[in-house]
Amino acid sequence: MQDARTEWLATLDRYHRDRERPATAEYWSPSLDTASRDELAAIQSAKLRVAVRFVYECIPLYRRHFQRAGLEPGDIRSIEDLPKIPVMTKQLMAEDLAEHPPWGTYTAVDDDIWLRHGWQIFASSGTTGQPRAFRYTAYDRVMWSWTNARAMWAIGFRPGRDSALLAFGYGPHVWLWGVHYGLNLMGIPIVTAGGLDSRARVRFIDTYQPTILACTPSYALYLGSLMREMGLDPAASSVRHIFCGGEPAFGVPATRRRIEELWNASLGEFYGCTEASPSAGGYTCAAAIATKEGPSQTHLMEDTQIWEVVDPQTFQPLPDGQRGLTVVTNLCSEASPQLRFLVGDFTVLDRSPCACGRTHARALGGFQGRADDMLNIRGVTLFPSAIEDAVRRVPDLGDEFQIVVTTERELDVLTVLVEPRPGVDPVQHAALVQRVETEIISRCELRPVVQLVPPGTLPKTEFKAKRVRDLRGQLSQEERR
Ligand SMILES: [Zn+2]
Repeated sequence: MQDARTEWLATLDRYHRDRERPATAEYWSPSLDTASRDELAAIQSAKLRVAVRFVYECIPLYRRHFQRAGLEPGDIRSIEDLPKIPVMTKQLMAEDLAEHPPWGTYTAVDDDIWLRHGWQIFASSGTTGQPRAFRYTAYDRVMWSWTNARAMWAIGFRPGRDSALLAFGYGPHVWLWGVHYGLNLMGIPIVTAGGLDSRARVRFIDTYQPTILACTPSYALYLGSLMREMGLDPAASSVRHIFCGGEPAFGVPATRRRIEELWNASLGEFYGCTEASPSAGGYTCAAAIATKEGPSQTHLMEDTQIWEVVDPQTFQPLPDGQRGLTVVTNLCSEASPQLRFLVGDFTVLDRSPCACGRTHARALGGFQGRADDMLNIRGVTLFPSAIEDAVRRVPDLGDEFQIVVTTERELDVLTVLVEPRPGVDPVQHAALVQRVETEIISRCELRPVVQLVPPGTLPKTEFKAKRVRDLRGQLSQEERR
């Protein structure tokens, strides 16, 4: 019998099609991208059987996870059996890391594999707890290039026409690296901008004329406004695609509109997580990008990953069409083939065919944020992105905002700090405050305290925005003193 790792990699190789170049002008890998639902299910089942044995033998955390549930690898024969595996959570990984520092035992990479086949580490940027490191391998880099090339082909990026400026610091965040290697495979050149300050990046855009700007959505707004300050017009620049990751953008209508108008460009995004790479996971196809009205849609690549939506309380699988939290089973990695990992974004899955011809599931309404980031204010649960959507509907406001939650007389108080755009007449300030209040009440069912602060007061976002200051715990400590 083959050893589990050899068998797993051979299985991945079997479904690694059209490795070097796209098969057609429309689809990078049509036999996968437009496979029938039955074919996709057969591929998933074939991979899953082998993955379960590999994970059981090579990832100690999962062996214990299976044993606690009374499961053997042979109990999982097809995707029908998948729900037998209990959901894997960040919490379980964090506990494992505390017991087994500095790497934990949640990947299939031990010190020996790492030193002989390792590629890079990525760290969960997690808003909760200690960062968890993931050691990915050289094999994963190859898979990453390929899955991301397929996804960026679906977005509409093409060699011979496009070039991309990647406005990221080349740090331990997964998003940038997969894009970088995917563009390399596609033959799309990169205008290298890591480590440059924002003014230098603006000058690079103006001088070297990239058609794609890849960055976080907060940074797309910041860089565009800086460009204006420098006397250049982002809407008249060479950039035709804003390509985002790291924060919700495509699923936040007012942010999407702001970015597209500022740059006179279309917005696309990737959705995924550090734990279950090397795949884009979710990507917006050209048909979704061209649809400006109605709920946004994000494809999930299903021959490389299995996506489910589960009940937020019980973690039981929900049928398509019902809103729940995302769970992924990762069938494309040597290092991190997680089984039923709770990514934890609310969405609704739809497996009907897409206008682009791809058969893979779509998340309707896109993604608005991780359940971990959800706020509960006076019994109303909401995502910070709902407030973002409300604020950005007001044209006379700047791009930055801050949410502060405090307690007064045992009641939660939601304060939203916003800035008028430079040049807005102070006579209009009271009306602006009123407008923001109305937008937030209609979208969030909460009455906020809106404070207008002078332009330039709120910190500028150069990577991921920190918008929420929840001071409730701290205040109650003070009250106890
Ligand atoms: Zn599509």
